[in-house]
Amino acid sequence: MKTIYTFGNGKAEGRADMRDLLGGKGANLAEMNLIGVPVPPGFTITTEVCKIYNEKGREEVVQLIKADVENAIKHIESLTGNKFNDPSNPQLVSVRSGAPVSMPGMMDTVLNLGINDAVAETLAQKSGNPRFAWDSYRRFVQMYGDVVLGMKPKNKTDIDPFEEIIENVKKEKGVQFDTDLEVEDLKRLVALFKQAVKDNTGKDFPTSAWDQLWGAIYAVFDSWNNERAILYRKMNQIPEEYGTAVNVQAMVYGNMGNNSATGVCFSRDAATGENLFNGEYLINAQGEDVVAGVRTPQQIMTEGSRRWAELQGISEEERKAKYPSLEESMPECAAQLVEIQHRLEEHYRDMQDMEFTIQDGKLWLLQTRNGKRTGAAMVKIAMDLLREGKIDEKTVIKRMEPNKLDELLHPVFDKAAVKSAKVMAKGLPASPGAASGQIVFFADDAEEWASRKKKVIMVRIETSPEDLRGMSVAQGILTARGGMTSHAAVVARGMGKCCVSGAGTIKVNYKARTVEMGGKTYNEGDWISINGSTGQVYDGPVATVDPDLGGDYAAVMALAEKYSKMDVYTNADSPRDAQKARELGAHGIGLCRTEHMFFEGDRIKAMREMIIAPDESSRRLALNKLLPLQRGDFEGIFKAMDGYEVTIRLLDPPLHEFVPHQLETMRELADQTGRTLEEVKLICDGLEEFNPMLGHRGCRLGNTYPEITEMQARAIIEAALNMQAKGIKVHPKIMVPLIGVKAEIQMQADIINATAKKVFAERGETVAYKVGTMIEIPRAALVADQIAEVVDFFSFGTNDLTQMTFGYSRDDAAKFLAVYKNLGILKVDPFEVLDQEGVGQLVEMATRKGRAANPDLNVGICGEHGGEPSSVKFCASLNLNYVSCSPYRVPIARLAAAQAAVEG
Ligand code: PEP
Ligand code: MG
Repeated sequence: MKTIYTFGNGKAEGRADMRDLLGGKGANLAEMNLIGVPVPPGFTITTEVCKIYNEKGREEVVQLIKADVENAIKHIESLTGNKFNDPSNPQLVSVRSGAPVSMPGMMDTVLNLGINDAVAETLAQKSGNPRFAWDSYRRFVQMYGDVVLGMKPKNKTDIDPFEEIIENVKKEKGVQFDTDLEVEDLKRLVALFKQAVKDNTGKDFPTSAWDQLWGAIYAVFDSWNNERAILYRKMNQIPEEYGTAVNVQAMVYGNMGNNSATGVCFSRDAATGENLFNGEYLINAQGEDVVAGVRTPQQIMTEGSRRWAELQGISEEERKAKYPSLEESMPECAAQLVEIQHRLEEHYRDMQDMEFTIQDGKLWLLQTRNGKRTGAAMVKIAMDLLREGKIDEKTVIKRMEPNKLDELLHPVFDKAAVKSAKVMAKGLPASPGAASGQIVFFADDAEEWASRKKKVIMVRIETSPEDLRGMSVAQGILTARGGMTSHAAVVARGMGKCCVSGAGTIKVNYKARTVEMGGKTYNEGDWISINGSTGQVYDGPVATVDPDLGGDYAAVMALAEKYSKMDVYTNADSPRDAQKARELGAHGIGLCRTEHMFFEGDRIKAMREMIIAPDESSRRLALNKLLPLQRGDFEGIFKAMDGYEVTIRLLDPPLHEFVPHQLETMRELADQTGRTLEEVKLICDGLEEFNPMLGHRGCRLGNTYPEITEMQARAIIEAALNMQAKGIKVHPKIMVPLIGVKAEIQMQADIINATAKKVFAERGETVAYKVGTMIEIPRAALVADQIAEVVDFFSFGTNDLTQMTFGYSRDDAAKFLAVYKNLGILKVDPFEVLDQEGVGQLVEMATRKGRAANPDLNVGICGEHGGEPSSVKFCASLNLNYVSCSPYRVPIARLAAAQAAVEG
C-alpha cells in the first residue's frame, strides 16, 4: 500500500484528479509541480492512512508509515540541502490538513515545525536576521500549543493563553503592535510560552523535530473527528468515511525581512466575477498575519490598490508611500505571480484562489483551489470562460450552484452595511431576500401602516391564512415557530417575500406588542432587518440594493432551457405571481391554491357566510357571491399564462381556518347573517378539529358539500371560455386535493364533468380541460393504478406526502427536526429536501403504476421540493413531465433540470 506521495522540483507522484486520496490541497500541490509552478518540496500522507488511524489507532499507523515518512523527509532534504532535526543546518516544515472536500477552519496550520533553541540560534546566524528566527520560534510554540497540545480556548469568548502573554509583554513594553517587539522580547515570549505549555499540559515542550512532527500528524488525523469537523460534515453532507490527508512541506519564510512577503490572491473577483486579478499581501509576515487584521494588508495590483485607496479615502501619495502594491514594491515577483495565476486558471479552467510566499525575493505557491464566489460571480465567471473558449456550454451548466441564483433575484443587503449590523437572532432562511422595516405584530396593522407608506416587518409566533394580507404588504416576515414548509415560509416564497421562520430564541408578546431577542426588547414600530437567505435578524435598518439581472444571467438561463428535458411550472395564486414566474421562465402553473383568494378584501365575508350556512340552499347563496370573484381571478391568471397550462386546485384547507377567532369579527358575521353572536360562536366551535390536517379538508369538503366543487368548476370553465373568446389560449387543468380512495376522485370528476357539460350547454361553446389529482396521501400512491384510470394527470403534493409518510406534522416538526439533525437521526429536513429513500419510493411507484394504467398520464410535482435542486434531479430521473415551484425558485429548478440532463 502506497501511503505517501512526494512532490518537488517539477516532479510529483500525485495528480489533480487524485483528490479523494490526497485531499484537495495535496492533489493540487502535486499538480502545480507538474505544470512547473514553484512549490516548496514536500509530501502528502493519504486519506487512506487517516481511515486506518481512525479504525486501528496510532500504533498501527506509526508501524505502517514510519519508514515512508522518514524517506519522504529525506526527499525534502535532498531537494533543499538542509537537514531535519539537525541544529547545524536545520530544515523546518509546515504541516497542514487537506480533505477531499474543502472544510475550512477544521484544523489550523502548523508552521515552522522543527525549531528549538539551538535551531533558532542557527537560523538567526545563517539569515543574519535574529528577529526572523525568534519570531518564527514564538509563532511555532503558539501554533503547536494551540493546535497540537489542545491549548486553544474551547469557548469563543475565552482568550488564547498565548495571546494573553503577548498582550502582557506588549503592555509592559508600552508598545501597540507585535512588530514593535524586539529580539529580546521575542526570546522572552518563547520562554513564557513554553512555561505556559508546561503549566497547562504538565509536560515540557518537545524539542525533537521528530516528536514535533508525529505530534502534528496525529493532531491532523484527530482533527477529523473533532466536534467542529463532525458538525461541518453534517451540515454539508460530507461523508464521515472520507478522512483527511496530511501535507508536510519545506518551510519558506515570508517573515525573513523586507524582501519577503506572504499573500492571498484570486484570478478573478470572487464577489463580482470581474476578470481582474486581485489579492492582498504583507511584507515581512507569515500566513495568518494577512487575515488576522493586525496590520493593514496591501493590494497586489496597482489598479486594485488605487481602487482600495479611493474607498478608504487615502490619497495617491499616501498610498504609494505607505501601502504600495506588490507590483510597485516587488515588480519582478508580481509579474511572475501574474503569469502563474494565468497559467493556473488556464490549467484548471476556473477562477483560482491561491496562497503564496515570497522568501528573500523568490516566489513560491503554497496552495491553489477553485475559488468560492457569490451567485453573481458564479454566473459571470462561467459565461466569461465560455466566451473565452475555455469551457463549453454543458460545463457552464454543471458549474452552477442552483441555490445561489437566489442571491441574484432578490434585493440584497449592501455588503458594507451588513458588516456593521448587529445580529440579534437567527432562524431558518425560509424565503430569500433582504428586508428592513418597522415591527408590527398583526395583519391589520401591517395593512394600515403600509397604506401610510411605512415599511413593516411582520413578527409573529406563527402565521395563519388570516395573516396573508398583512404578509403581502410587509417587507418581510419573521416567525418564532414553523419550519421550511410552514405557512409563513410557503406563502412568503410564493410571494417572493423575504422570510425568516422558526427563530426559536425570539419571544413574542402579542399583548404587550413586544418581541425580545438578543437581550433587547423591541416595541411595535422599532426597526429590524432580516436576511431570508441566511436566517439572520439584525438590529435596526440595513441598506439594501436592487439585484442586477444582467445579460449573463439571461444567457445562463437560455442554456438551461436549451439542455433541460423536464419542464418547470410555478405555484402561483395571483396574476401578479403568475406574471413574475413567467418572466422567470415558468412554462405553466402547476398549482394555484384557490383558498388564498378567499382572504382578499370582502371575500372572507362571503366565505364565512358559506361556512356557517345551515343548509345547502343558504350555502349555495353564499357560494353565488364567491363565484364571480373566483371567475375574475381565474381570468386574470389565464391571461397572464396565455398559451400555457394552468392547474387550479379545488378548495383544500380545513374550514375552520376561515372562521373568525376574534369576538369583533364574530359579531360582524352574526350581523351579516342575521344570527346571534352565541349561534355564530357555537358554529365556529363546532368546526374546531383535533387534527385539522387530517380532518375535514381536501376532497372531503367537495364530496360532503358538492356545491363547493360545482361553484369552483363553474368559475374555472366560465373564466376559460371568457378568455378564449378574447383570443387567449387557455389550457385549464382542474386538480382535486387529498385523494386516498378511487371513489373520492371519481365522485369529484363526475361533478366537474357534469358542471362543465352544463356550462358548455348554457354558453353554446366548449373548451378543452383536464381533470387530475394530487397524490399526497400514501394510500393514493399505493393505489395509483386505480386512480390513474379516472384522471389525466397526477401532481405529487410532497409537502403532505412527506407529512403523512413520516407522520410528522409539517407545522410542528421544526421543534424536533433541529434536534434530530443534530443527533444525526436525520441528515436533512425532509420538508426541504425530498426523502428519496422513503417518500421517493412512493413517488416512483405511483408514477410507474399510474403510467402503466394510463399511458397518457401527465405527472408532475408541486410540493416545496419542486424548487430544491436535489429533489428536482430526482424528479428528472423518474422522467416526470414537470416540477412546479414558487416563482422565485423557477430559475433554480430550471438549472437543476438542465444539470440533470447534462449530467445524465
Ligand atoms: C402539498 O401537500 O405538497 C401541496 C402542494 O399542497 P399544500 O402545501 O397546499 O398542502
Ligand atoms: Mg397538500
